[in-house]
Amino acid sequence: MISPKKISFLQTSLLSWYEKHQRTLPWRSKDGKPNPYYVWLSEIMLQQTTVPTVIPYFNRFIKKWPTVDQLAKATEDEVFHLWQGLGYYQRARNLLKCAQEITHSYHQKFPENLKTLLSLPGVGPYTAAAILTIAFNKYAVVIDGNVERVLSRYLCFDGLFPGAKNEFSHKISPLYKVDKPGNLAQAIMDLGSSICKPASPKCSICPLHENCCAFSTKTVQNHPKKAQKPLKPTRFGTVYWIKNAKNQLYIRKRTEGRLLAGLMEFPSTDWLEMKDGIKDKKSSRVHHTFTHFHLILDIVTTNKIPPDIKGGFWCNIEDLKNHAFPTVMIKVIKEASKIRP
Ligand code: SF4
Repeated sequence: MISPKKISFLQTSLLSWYEKHQRTLPWRSKDGKPNPYYVWLSEIMLQQTTVPTVIPYFNRFIKKWPTVDQLAKATEDEVFHLWQGLGYYQRARNLLKCAQEITHSYHQKFPENLKTLLSLPGVGPYTAAAILTIAFNKYAVVIDGNVERVLSRYLCFDGLFPGAKNEFSHKISPLYKVDKPGNLAQAIMDLGSSICKPASPKCSICPLHENCCAFSTKTVQNHPKKAQKPLKPTRFGTVYWIKNAKNQLYIRKRTEGRLLAGLMEFPSTDWLEMKDGIKDKKSSRVHHTFTHFHLILDIVTTNKIPPDIKGGFWCNIEDLKNHAFPTVMIKVIKEASKIRP
């Protein structure tokens, strides 16, 4: 349990710091009336992605689809195209499904309770809690990486993440019982991104330092404690850069049930782990890292479609930009464009 004195100090210090130092972000309201569509869209984009990367994507999305019902009318290809480069494409898929559900089942209004929010496509415990607190100023315990870092330092919390998340959530839950839980959640996020940074926290200007356990015990770098992640395996494959005499490239859509389904690709073999890996670098190659594995793709250039490659079409080089390619295929375009015919 955190002592009532410590909770009250945290709440007062964080909220008054936030009044003066909050970040200006395009999804935040200036008039104290947050737009739930903006809050939801930004929180989905911010999963696994940093704020500076998300800002231009967010602005492009709300320019094209200013409201949730307008987004609901988009095609998956259109959403993928604007999402291109943000990665984790399942998020884009669920974004569209969620917009359609909000529009058709909830009359374009985001639900204001945790249980219903959690039933929406792509909305997990963190996102549901963030929407509830930030969009509707309701009580929920919001825990992202910033909250984990700031509060486990402040409390010298020694549990090992991610396993200790429930214990941590229980411990910090009284903190969010304030008049403005949305501001409190955003205050910790802002403090974590500008002051209590992972590598070099600026403790001397931190509003929490006089009561911060890790600061007083000189154990800042020991918190939060994290379990070691398992090593990622490496998979290998070949990707075909097939160009005809008309200067067109052969591309296809990745089929359902595969990673990056629905996005465009230059045809490739399956991506498989190989016992000894590939030792010789015989061709142009790209490296990419997904959540669960590293990928090495060798590029083979040819002017004929290999017999086992099917389901694609020819695309003028200048029209490639009109299709949604995942980042790994953008790397293939860059690398293959260097190859002399
Ligand atoms: S005093 Fe330092 S370690 Fe403690 S919360 Fe502030 S920045 Fe983080």
